[in-house]
Amino acid sequence: MTQEGVEIDDGDAPALPTAPDERDAIRTALVEWYEADHRDFPWRRTEDPYEILVSEVMSQQTQLDRVVPAWEAFLDRWPAPADLAAAERGDVVGFWSSHSLGYNNRAKYLHEAATQIVEDYDGEFPRTPDELSELMGVGPYTANAVASFAFNNGEAVVDTNVKRVLHRAFDVPDDDDAFERVASLVMPDGESRVWNNAIMELGGVACGKTPDCDTAGCPWREWCHAYESGDFTAPDVPEQPSFEGSRRQFRGRVISTLKEFDELALDDLGPRIRVDYAPNGEYGREWLTGLVEDLADDDLVTVDEDDDGATVAKLRR
Ligand code: SF4
Repeated sequence: MTQEGVEIDDGDAPALPTAPDERDAIRTALVEWYEADHRDFPWRRTEDPYEILVSEVMSQQTQLDRVVPAWEAFLDRWPAPADLAAAERGDVVGFWSSHSLGYNNRAKYLHEAATQIVEDYDGEFPRTPDELSELMGVGPYTANAVASFAFNNGEAVVDTNVKRVLHRAFDVPDDDDAFERVASLVMPDGESRVWNNAIMELGGVACGKTPDCDTAGCPWREWCHAYESGDFTAPDVPEQPSFEGSRRQFRGRVISTLKEFDELALDDLGPRIRVDYAPNGEYGREWLTGLVEDLADDDLVTVDEDDDGATVAKLRR
């Protein structure tokens, strides 16, 4: 099957919906979640390729919170490629060491890249991932990140966080080609800036090694294979992460059951969620009501009464 010029082997991602409108819903849900709230790193507020390149190189070995003051100080001192190119290399390396930014080679490469931009590109930053890869010390990942965040001109980013998200959400096997293919498929055409920011934010905030699906309001719970199955292992999380309880798994089962039946009265839903469901037991109507009301608060289901006064849960579509 071919879609938007990309070869699709659906066997590579059994849980990736194939209907175009559902793919659109998946994309919209993630972008809306990201735009409603995200960590406010200063390099997310700029489209200047030099500033973004500096942030990417610094972030390779340093925690993001610690990168912020170093990034600001670096740009105060060398605000543009020409300033950096004119600097003494020893001063740049000295800055790197004094801010504990990891291997000094990165400072040398950054200095060299600024020189290339001034001398080889006449001060004009290259705009495509291929051209950006020609810069000293800029590998495919960084080139793509700069092309995306500065020029909205990149491919889908695939890093450890993105692999974890795609593996859990769409059951993508632990295979680099499959990750690349599915990452490209889910990214909306021509929206690499917002999309790559959003999916990396999802991996950093909601879908960490111990996922925080509900508290972080993950926008993909409705489609997520791991949320439905309760298996949250991932390529970088070989052991099932421990949770404070199994409530998430039961929530996932409610969603998957309602996907199949659309709507069910609580006493019909309950036995499909727990084998030990008994209307008046410990895990009975009261327990299940709490569960579906939580899901209603998250806009995933609606809860109403039918003509006989029984509580009915319905999947919100
Ligand atoms: S529902 Fe949970 S496991 Fe699935 S993508 Fe969202 S955060 Fe990750």
